[in-house]
Amino acid sequence: MTEAFVGLGANLGDKDATLHAALAALAALPGTRLLAASGFYRSAPVEASGPEYLNAVACIETELPAETLLDALQAIEQAHGRERPYINAPRTLDMDLLLYGDQSVATPRLTVPHPRMTQRAFVLLPLLEIAPGRQDLAAHLLTLADQRIERQ
Ligand code: ADP
Ligand code: MG
Repeated sequence: MTEAFVGLGANLGDKDATLHAALAALAALPGTRLLAASGFYRSAPVEASGPEYLNAVACIETELPAETLLDALQAIEQAHGRERPYINAPRTLDMDLLLYGDQSVATPRLTVPHPRMTQRAFVLLPLLEIAPGRQDLAAHLLTLADQRIERQ
């Protein structure tokens, strides 16, 4: 079993309902248990325009290998009508694998830890809410004070 953190984001459609459904879908994955979910945070798009985001982070325990977990996350995105017209486009649901145990992964499809997580307050704030032991990540927040975010 591996403890993993998943970042969730939505800025199209019924964002609140989508995040709740995505958390339920995560909990229902084979060999997987939902250990914790953060509150929901409203955030301004980073390096993009468009509607405000709703973000959360989940902690799971899973038997799935990292790439199988990515497949599952992408299937949940698809089930919520995810489209990818261009980079950083608004989306009904984005699910990113942030951390997978203490493992590093670097394949064409998957980079873990997520390469941009330390540059995004909408990842770090919800993650620190459910993983207060990760104070090593908190220092990055000091550099992100310009990113608008509030807990819903
Ligand atoms: P965004 O970077 O905005 O989340 P996408 O969700 O469209 O963009 O993801 C683009 C690609 O990023 C995916 O097809 C996936 O293969 C790749 N990827 C690499 N590392 C990760 C990761 N840690 N979590 C999720 N996707 C990843
Ligand atoms: Mg993504």
